[in-house]
Amino acid sequence: MRLKDKVAVVTGASRGIGRAIALAFAHEGAKLALCATNQPLLDSLAAEISDRFGQKPLTFSFDIRNAQEMTNAVKKILDTHSRIDILLNNAGATRDQLLVMMPEEDWDFVLSVNLKSAYLFAKAVTRPMIRQRAGRIISITSIVGINGNAGQTNYAASKAGLIGFTKSLAKELAKRNITVNAIAPGFIKTQMTDGLSEEIKTEVNHRIPLGRFGEPEDIAQTAVFLASDQAAYITGQVIRVDGGLDM
Ligand code: NAP
Repeated sequence: MRLKDKVAVVTGASRGIGRAIALAFAHEGAKLALCATNQPLLDSLAAEISDRFGQKPLTFSFDIRNAQEMTNAVKKILDTHSRIDILLNNAGATRDQLLVMMPEEDWDFVLSVNLKSAYLFAKAVTRPMIRQRAGRIISITSIVGINGNAGQTNYAASKAGLIGFTKSLAKELAKRNITVNAIAPGFIKTQMTDGLSEEIKTEVNHRIPLGRFGEPEDIAQTAVFLASDQAAYITGQVIRVDGGLDM
């Protein structure tokens, strides 16, 4: 029970990596607030957590770009639990296109969902964490934010932005006993990578030293560690979880 009674907010919890993180956090004893837009998927995850771990998570269905809804959600979490110990910025989206073809709308959308949301959510939880003199802020970036990827200038910029955001905020909050870190997954089996052709999947597998795509649980276990007391002396770091791809 490495997160016993810690209050954790997980964005993008309806499926994929966020769902796996929510289940791993619940397994470690955290009290959860789950955010995404798909209410039925949030309800079914909340029911599973309730059955398996005997707690009823709060669920919030809203577009992560909506600052007012986010403020309302944070208020409800604080009204219910009086504290927020862990913020897990996981919600993310892609709108891939070569730059010459990329509509401005797709640039703005991806930057807003992936990067601005982390700013908004971190800002909303920072005051309570400062009052508590403890907290963990963890963001899911990507190895694409480190190395770049053709067809993903918007996504790569948002994920590189998250890395700069993480390091800067870590410096701002270190004296308050709040750590700020990021996880950079490689290729993980989720809806986000389902659309890749079999040909591309085979080619990618050949480039990954461990020879396979990662599972959402591989990211979830890293998130549990960073959120736990065991990681108290780690801040401002980007942990790659990519089967050795970016080596
Ligand atoms: P996914 O299966 O597509 O899940 C994305 C999650 O984000 C969903 O829960 C989705 O919820 C939520 N989301 C997307 N847009 C949203 C919005 N506007 N408002 C609220 N929630 C929104 O993707 P995933 O693979 O689990 O990705 C999770 C994170 O890992 C992302 O940040 C992604 O960039 C990052 N990542 C993934 C990989 C990979 O290989 N899979 C690699 C590197 C990094 P709703 O649909 O319910 O809104």
